[in-house]
Amino acid sequence: MKKSERATFIIKVLENYYPETPIPLDHNDHFTLLVAVLLSAQCTDERVNTVTPILFKKAKNASEMSILSEDDIYKIIKPCGLGPKKSKAIKKLSEILVKQYNSIVPSDIKKLEQLPGVGHKTASVVISQGFGVPAFPVDTHIHRLAQRWGLSKGKNVVQTEKDLKKIFPKDKWNKLHLQIIFWGREFCSARACFGLNCEICKGCYPKRVSRFVHNQP
Ligand code: SF4
Repeated sequence: MKKSERATFIIKVLENYYPETPIPLDHNDHFTLLVAVLLSAQCTDERVNTVTPILFKKAKNASEMSILSEDDIYKIIKPCGLGPKKSKAIKKLSEILVKQYNSIVPSDIKKLEQLPGVGHKTASVVISQGFGVPAFPVDTHIHRLAQRWGLSKGKNVVQTEKDLKKIFPKDKWNKLHLQIIFWGREFCSARACFGLNCEICKGCYPKRVSRFVHNQP
């Protein structure tokens, strides 16, 4: 199979398995989505979803969050890990949203990336899941799957994002991002799999008989 054929096959299989792609992080609006995505760095969505209801009960928008102390935020979000860094970022970005954006989360990726604690991946998730703007956030799991499926040889997530954006139609990016995450969680989270087990690898590489060794986790 050529790379483009593999991409078409993968879209078909993923669409079959995951026709619906509910957003895994619970949120009420753009602000709560932004905070939830920020909290999800190096943390599971499930854990974030247990913490955010407590946080958003105390502060449901940028204005209310900006009034909380870093310590108040820290005490609540601690289970998500990286507590000092994340609480500082949440407080600071809330202040900036109030002062510079009239408490409204911007839909512009460049503006989002300038907020404290918001990197390219977080900003991409917010614009795609919150605003429906096409983006292809790549985390280590999507990076690994892109390698296993022969869609990218990128040595880092930046290159992998470029490769995936090239190979998949733009109008499918947002859904595919979630579908690939769902597939990774359900079938492909184990590092011990070497590309011989499931429908996608078998379909893309029917002649593969020996272990596929990828150069990234
Ligand atoms: S065969 Fe293994 S590596 Fe390939 S997609 Fe399935 S679980 Fe992942």
